[in-house]
Amino acid sequence: MSTKIALYVGYLFDGETLLNDVTVTIENGKIRDIKKGFLKLDEYEIIDKKEHFAFPAFINTHTHSAMTGMRGLADDLPLMEWLNKYIFPVELKLVDRDFINTFFPLALVEMIHSGIGTFADMYFFQDEAASWVKKAGLRAVLAEGVIDFGTPNKKSVGEQLAYVRDFIEDFKGDKNVIPAIGPHAPYTCSPDLLKESWEMAEKYDVPYLIHVSETQDEVNMVLEKYGKRPVVHLKDIGVLGSRVVSAHSVHLNQEEMEIFKEFGVGVSHNPQSNMKLASGIAPIKKYVELGIKVSIGTDGVASNNNLDYIEELRTASFLQKVSTNDPTALSATLTLKIGTKGGAEVLGLENVGEIKPGYSADIAILNLSASNLVPVYNPISHLIYAASAQNIDTLIVRGKVIMEDFEIKTLDEEAIKEKAKRYSEKIKELVNEG
Ligand SMILES: [Zn+2]
Repeated sequence: MSTKIALYVGYLFDGETLLNDVTVTIENGKIRDIKKGFLKLDEYEIIDKKEHFAFPAFINTHTHSAMTGMRGLADDLPLMEWLNKYIFPVELKLVDRDFINTFFPLALVEMIHSGIGTFADMYFFQDEAASWVKKAGLRAVLAEGVIDFGTPNKKSVGEQLAYVRDFIEDFKGDKNVIPAIGPHAPYTCSPDLLKESWEMAEKYDVPYLIHVSETQDEVNMVLEKYGKRPVVHLKDIGVLGSRVVSAHSVHLNQEEMEIFKEFGVGVSHNPQSNMKLASGIAPIKKYVELGIKVSIGTDGVASNNNLDYIEELRTASFLQKVSTNDPTALSATLTLKIGTKGGAEVLGLENVGEIKPGYSADIAILNLSASNLVPVYNPISHLIYAASAQNIDTLIVRGKVIMEDFEIKTLDEEAIKEKAKRYSEKIKELVNEG
């Protein structure tokens, strides 16, 4: 952390402006300054990235990382069938500490290659996940999932909440891990569970991650059960505020959008998952115009099926263009801002998401020499419309070099992949037994 870095880049987007030919100096994990030209500074580790584009590391605001163990296990199904017939039963049968220690780091490797510096995860055994986040050197909001019918970690709601409380107490104030609570959704959590989770989030001042109105079916279920639409239901039981990270939120009516705006609720848009499960198209352009905080997430890979954040941004942009008949909707620059600064706002992170003096040094670097990125007229256009995760060259988080020249420094990528392959034999056996 005490390393001083002088990063020279051909192009840099600081969050507002595209600069070229600059040196970013990094000290004590933070951006010190940005100066024109190549600065050869004594006592600094020099990173020379001429044919490259540096931008704020991506912020993936919704995923279930360890679902890398279920990638491609069940595809081409509607959400409720996918969840109830495959994902929930498989999770209850398979997901334990060993599963997390096998597949959570696999997701970290994939996210690092994708230029993600910060992510928000909703899953189980988050104390295990936390130690991997620290080892990798990333930043993560880790929300332990709670749900009426029990999780792979704890059966009763009481045990679930007790675990979350201990987890939050253990990691509150950590520099890499932001502990949080993740009630699954309004249709899988009773009003009491939603409220108790909210009280804990308020008491410890931590984020509250929840899936809201992902599908029309879900809206109908909540309407039938409570006589109200999901967002109105959440408002009436008193669990809305700026700490809420609302995943999906595809099906909101005008009143619900206004409630989100009024309460400062942040949305995590997950376009590829929504497309794959045919959940619908969230009107992100409209949310942005209304002033609702918007960010972008990959969701878990069981419904994506990868953690390539560049693909996710491109899809988000294209989906707004095609659904609004407006090619100017979600421009490349706006999409990049949503994937960086937008994520920091939704997760409540200060001094993250831009490359400015005093900000955390979280920088991803795109290599512009690949055949799909030559020649360069506009690096932001290349990043959003032409690149893929394979073109991300270097990642720095909190001033620490996590990946350089495509090589991950903090984790043993080969060992993690080997372990995942070995573990998959167990999953195949269990699934074949039915
Ligand atoms: Zn999700």
